[in-house]
Amino acid sequence: MNARVLIDGPSELVFDYAIPAGLNVRPGCRVRVPLRRKSATGTVLSTGEPEQADFALRQLESLIDPEPLITPELLRTAEWIAHYYGSSLESVIRSVLPEGVRSEENSAKTRRIAMLNAAPDPALIAKLEKRAPRQFSILNLLSHAAGNRLAVTELGEGNSTALKALENLGIIRIEIEEVRRDPEADNVEEILESKPLQLNTGQALALEAVLQAVAQPKESKPILLLGVTGSGKTEVYLQAAQRALDLGKTVLVLVPEISLTPQTVRRFKSRFAAMQDQVAVLHSNLSQGERFDEWHRIRKGVARIVIGARSAVFAPLPDLGLILVDEEHENTYKQENVPRYHGRDVAVLRAAFEPCAIVLGSATPSLESWNNTLTHKYQLVRLNERADDASMPLVRVVDMRLEQTKHKGGPAILSDKLRTALEQRLEKGEQSILFLNRRGFARSLQCTSCGHACQCPHCAVALTYHRTDERLVCHVCGYQSLVPRKCPECRDPGILLQGYGTQKVEEVMAKVFPQAKFARIDADTMRRKNALRDTLAAFKAHKIDILIGTQMIAKGLHFPNVTLVGILNADLGLHVPDFRAGERTFQLITQVAGRAGRGDLEGEVIVQTFTPHSPSIQYARKHDYDGFSEQEMEFRREFTFPPYAHCAVLTSRSTHERRAEFTLQTLHLRLSESLPSGITLGEVLPSPLIRSHGQFRFQITLRSLRARPLTNHVQAVLSKTSLPEDVTVVFDMDALNFS
Ligand code: ADP
Ligand code: ZN
Repeated sequence: MNARVLIDGPSELVFDYAIPAGLNVRPGCRVRVPLRRKSATGTVLSTGEPEQADFALRQLESLIDPEPLITPELLRTAEWIAHYYGSSLESVIRSVLPEGVRSEENSAKTRRIAMLNAAPDPALIAKLEKRAPRQFSILNLLSHAAGNRLAVTELGEGNSTALKALENLGIIRIEIEEVRRDPEADNVEEILESKPLQLNTGQALALEAVLQAVAQPKESKPILLLGVTGSGKTEVYLQAAQRALDLGKTVLVLVPEISLTPQTVRRFKSRFAAMQDQVAVLHSNLSQGERFDEWHRIRKGVARIVIGARSAVFAPLPDLGLILVDEEHENTYKQENVPRYHGRDVAVLRAAFEPCAIVLGSATPSLESWNNTLTHKYQLVRLNERADDASMPLVRVVDMRLEQTKHKGGPAILSDKLRTALEQRLEKGEQSILFLNRRGFARSLQCTSCGHACQCPHCAVALTYHRTDERLVCHVCGYQSLVPRKCPECRDPGILLQGYGTQKVEEVMAKVFPQAKFARIDADTMRRKNALRDTLAAFKAHKIDILIGTQMIAKGLHFPNVTLVGILNADLGLHVPDFRAGERTFQLITQVAGRAGRGDLEGEVIVQTFTPHSPSIQYARKHDYDGFSEQEMEFRREFTFPPYAHCAVLTSRSTHERRAEFTLQTLHLRLSESLPSGITLGEVLPSPLIRSHGQFRFQITLRSLRARPLTNHVQAVLSKTSLPEDVTVVFDMDALNFS
């Protein structure tokens, strides 16, 4: 038998090795192999009889783990990702099997346990009491311990001779036990078990559809669960998960970002509190040891329900029965470095390979997933009403062009309508949320005399003024500088703050409502560990009246006492050079608005905008997903944008502007020769963010009805072109980020 082995490392080397007799080598195993004059580690991709005896083949050295670490389904998924996204298989395997969980780099933590073999003979005990007090005291401790066992460390120091003696007498034995490095060990938060709710008709039908898919995964399509905000999707997830577990299967739950979805994670923990040890939460703050342990607990089938962000799609769950992808429209599912996979799409593929049931849930599905229901690739299940008798909030749109004339000088932050609405809430003791998609104090610092705006020296963006530390900060690369007192260009002192951010809003609000209690949630205030969790808990306990935040508060939050949501500048994301700008704005407004009126009290949303008639805002006002998607799809069809085509971006970047541009022009020329039909090749253009982190950036957009020919063509050209050393070229299939 031979094994085909992918060697670890960036060179993407694949070699065949002969398997020595007696070694149980299977695909997905980690192995040590000879490579030139050294030894290397790698992953077995496949095994088989060679077509003809090849005596020159070298022998594989050893197995690193007795069992394969990667399941055949995950190996197949990895190969698909490598082909589809044009990434090296090795880089994908590194995502599937991250450093730290590979046993050569880490290992299970163990401890020695002493345990009694049988109740010792009383005569012997009496003898030991006189002659060997240490042995006697160990026996004493063990016979009173639960299960007659204790860790050796608990028996006190300097006992090794006594233990050995007892072991030799056959009274005790010592075993090695793995100890879990439990990430939740010092979590003081109390998790109370929650009981399943009585489902309403819509939820019951949704659950039935999911269970049908769990029972017959081969015959079932992925399910798109389109449920308005507060329609009880999470309850459907929880009950479906419970049923899958009852059937002896395992469950994978993907969320956009663990740190931003504490409430969702908590609801899963509460529902499965009775089987806490079987729940694994994968997040980026795990230590190497914790990650190793969680990963191996999952692979062994000990942890049967896994919650995690994008990369958890590779969790090695055996007997996978159900995958749940919450907020499937979120951009964070796309990985922005190699391999640039989309976690949701990979989840759909993995579900097909396993096979298992998969549910994509959202109040505002991506048009890609929506289109898949129209073409009957996915099954559509809807929840059109809020679950707990709440109605959808009333959304009012305020035209800020009219407000602007009332406020001479400086930006109008609060419209009269929003100010009055906030006042009413404070009087009634109800809570409000204010949303603004920009942190910091002012957007930029601009000279009133010459118009100069302070820019980041490394990126083509204006610096943002941060009041608390009196600094200008680049939100792209993090560059910081002091605030100039005069215009750096013309020396005029009339340099003014333009626009506003969350910091400024907090300051203005404190002046307008001195009696109210505020909290601000954005990347600046939430740096401390658990800061978000604590602030949300304080808000829930009504220690805060008004919560001000960026998109960090847009996701999945549920506060029954919030009756007002204000969206301060709804157009912020609308005027960017990205064909998805309208879709994103619609999603964001709908999601943020969905935080209002989720309890017995009716909710109201006030949307401040300079473009009140834009379709994204108007359809969001009416909670009309169908209307929005219909008109947006028409626009996408007309220009052959996704979901009617796959769209990829080829970016070049270099500190050398000309070289970055020239490299991409060369690639453009080669791509245009022998361009397969059905592929549209765009021109070489400066990226919207032409300079970032000190590098100049150029891009080509490519579109194609079919994905594979596009990736294949670009990969073929890239592999034949040698790039200058100081130019980096990146291919992003199904790109979401065009900046
Ligand atoms: P979504 O995930 O769709 O936004 P949630 O699952 O957060 O909605 O549900 C919104 C609220 O409705 C929650 O407080 C939840 O406990 C409640 N809820 C869900 N299902 C039911 C039900 N069948 N009966 C009563 N309340 C429910
Ligand atoms: Zn910068």
